[in-house]
Amino acid sequence: MTTKLSEVASKRGIHYFLISFVDLFGNLRSKLVPTRAIDDMQKNGAGFAGFAAWLDMTPAHPDMFAIPDPDSLIQLPWKKEIGWLASDLWMDGKPVEASPRVALKRQINNAEKLGFRIKAGVECEYHLINSEGTGIADEQDKQSKPCYDQQSLMRQYPVISQICDSMIELGWGPYQNDHEDANGQFEMNWDYDDVLITADRHVFFKFMVKSIAELHGLRATFMPKPFSHLTGNGCHSHLSIWNLEGSKNLFHSADDSRSLGLSNLAYQFLGGIMHSADSLTAIFNPTINSYKRINAPRTLSGASWSPSSITYSGNNRTHMIRVPDDGRFELRLMDGAANPYLMQAGIIACGLEGIETNRDPGEPLDINMYELDDDLKDYKLLPKNLLDALRLFQDNEILRSRLGEDLVDSYTKLKYSQWDSYTSHLTKWEMDNTLDC
Ligand SMILES: [Mg+2]
Repeated sequence: MTTKLSEVASKRGIHYFLISFVDLFGNLRSKLVPTRAIDDMQKNGAGFAGFAAWLDMTPAHPDMFAIPDPDSLIQLPWKKEIGWLASDLWMDGKPVEASPRVALKRQINNAEKLGFRIKAGVECEYHLINSEGTGIADEQDKQSKPCYDQQSLMRQYPVISQICDSMIELGWGPYQNDHEDANGQFEMNWDYDDVLITADRHVFFKFMVKSIAELHGLRATFMPKPFSHLTGNGCHSHLSIWNLEGSKNLFHSADDSRSLGLSNLAYQFLGGIMHSADSLTAIFNPTINSYKRINAPRTLSGASWSPSSITYSGNNRTHMIRVPDDGRFELRLMDGAANPYLMQAGIIACGLEGIETNRDPGEPLDINMYELDDDLKDYKLLPKNLLDALRLFQDNEILRSRLGEDLVDSYTKLKYSQWDSYTSHLTKWEMDNTLDC
């Protein structure tokens, strides 16, 4: 039986609902709906003008409706009278194919048809910065190797503990919080789960971190590279496939000739991602700024912790894919700007293609990729900028057929116009280096 949201509201003291959706650029949009109107909205959706968000629609399009998923309901731990809901977008009685959550659900459905249940965990790094956005929040946080620094972590205890307490209250199973590799940078880890649950939580986590930081007079940013000399914000994802009952990890094998504890199915999935990784950067690393994180020179701490080439390894963080433990792998390419739904949709689309075509990722590499610096000629490289990534993405037949023509065309159209907007600005670098030409 479907949960009736008005009944949940009266039981839990919810006065308002945020009916939200994520657009193609990853922006969280919503309407604040009083509980008195929620039953109708639950059935028919909240109306939006699609053109007003980053979706490929014109002002002439009819109303778009966000139909909330009652299973996604999260009562805001810092403002309990509000309930947050993820939604699927509909127009003219049909799901909007070129919308992120609908795209992910389609890939999950494809996986289920093959008897697979995808599980994922995400590691969302972020910086705590001052409210003006001009520098990190804690001016005492200056060490050249600040990772795991206890004193800097504890100076932000009021913010970090409020976020962690919230995750405990929500039942996400948080288990560790740390100061990451850049000054002002933090990471908080919670349990992995079914990929749609993780994607919804990923969206909510970003909203929660920003909101709680604001309550403390600070600002949180997930920007891929907010400071050029410091390590950027990654968003690593850990993947595994289980049987539909969730009782058996199909990525696990005790009899792996490569000694990484992975099954043949896992290598095929991994091979599918590696095969299309250069095109996937268009959604894994979706901003102009993203390309300052990948392909980056060494940072103040000595390592960028992000990849430049398409390789995999065992427990070695210098590669794009790491196998930290039996039965799962970590994809380290994505950054803090990645759309939580599109990135998982891209992973599943290419992973399933790898399974269906029996892709072989080759042997794992056990070398320190950061020691190679620019000498990467033996390896397939990641795109150097968003324009190159978009061109690969647009022409990739695997992604066109699996994510859908509508999604690929809409996404690239909007992103090309963003690229044009970026390149139309004169930069200080151009003036400094071209004025005397
Ligand atoms: Mg990290």
